[in-house]
Amino acid sequence: MTKIVRQPFEVSERVAEMSVSSTLRAMQRAMAMRAAGVDVVDLGAGEPDFDTPAHVKLAAAEAMRRGETKYTATGGTRELQRAIIGYYEREFGARLEPREVMATAGGKQAIFNAVVTLINPGDEVLLARPYWVTFPEIVKFAGATPVVVETESDGFQLTADAVARALNARTRLLIINSPSNPSGRVVPPAEFRRIVETCAGRGVYVVSDECYLQFVYPPGEVFSAASLPPELRARLCIAGSFSKTYAMTGWRIGYALAQPEWIEAMLLVQGHSTSNPNSISQAAATEAMNASQDCVREMLAEYARRREWIGGALSEIPGFKCFAPEGAFYAFPDVRGCLYDDVKTSADFAEKLLNDEQVVVTDGAGFGADGYIRISYATSMERLREGVRRIRRVAEACAR
Ligand code: PLP
Repeated sequence: MTKIVRQPFEVSERVAEMSVSSTLRAMQRAMAMRAAGVDVVDLGAGEPDFDTPAHVKLAAAEAMRRGETKYTATGGTRELQRAIIGYYEREFGARLEPREVMATAGGKQAIFNAVVTLINPGDEVLLARPYWVTFPEIVKFAGATPVVVETESDGFQLTADAVARALNARTRLLIINSPSNPSGRVVPPAEFRRIVETCAGRGVYVVSDECYLQFVYPPGEVFSAASLPPELRARLCIAGSFSKTYAMTGWRIGYALAQPEWIEAMLLVQGHSTSNPNSISQAAATEAMNASQDCVREMLAEYARRREWIGGALSEIPGFKCFAPEGAFYAFPDVRGCLYDDVKTSADFAEKLLNDEQVVVTDGAGFGADGYIRISYATSMERLREGVRRIRRVAEACAR
């Protein structure tokens, strides 16, 4: 018999470079504590506490009854493509052709496809700090170098000037996420356009992650890069998601909008990795976009109520500095006023919140912003009040 070589499993160099998602880690800890019967207040979750709207679930059930349980085209059914095109025309006056649209298994896959089809080893990719945890990991996986655009002195507001300062001959791509996870900042439409113009003027591409597209609070404006003129759109890939807008995180459905050549390349990658996104989820997503958007408005009104409350409540906590979130469903306070000998970093502070008061938040370091924590208000008002009460107790003890 052939001798079998026994040796420890060695992970590939690319994967060895990856860090575990800090947001997923926080979620897993909360789940484990809850399973052990602990009264946890989970303000770590990046997912809506609402159920998927009933009419969307019904559309999925009907699709199953009709037997829509087979492979579809890699980029999604014609019905879903039409629904996405119709939605962008109604909401943003954008004219898209079917060859500029593809469905993906979540916004995450759209970003992954976009990055790996554009980037070569040695390229640089700009990310605004604080960035969503997954961006640098995808960039590194593609063999490129993430380069951070500093925004802290501008209150985490990304500007065209900051982007212009960060560009160099190796820059190939900027990834922009407005409304932002984790900061809750929203780039105003005129500034957004200037940012894309700045990149386009230097031959740099832009991925616009519009995962929280509709979750903007007045006086901010809902804006999609799809409404930019065609010459700018040629430099852009929009990564869209149904996860947050329609409370559909588990359905794994999203989309990419880009020029036809870019879409073709992304279809090639997707065709050899996951193929089409789930056929049932596609039917549900088609209904979500075609039907009345009242369900989105209702969820947004509830987030707005919580956001109003949490902005005030956090700014009264000793040692916290917090600006009002402009979009998404996260507050991102600076907790450096609570740090001392035993609690040196925001990670220590988050750990203390968990150990002393069983509150889960996400440390800012994973987003490139040590000294901050992310608090999700995608939870009921009652749990939010309880969570903030507990955070306050820890902060008072630390700030003393
Ligand atoms: N982009 C941002 C900023 C996110 O926060 C998320 C999810 O948390 C995604 C993209 C991906 O969402 P999904 O893959 O569920 O569509």
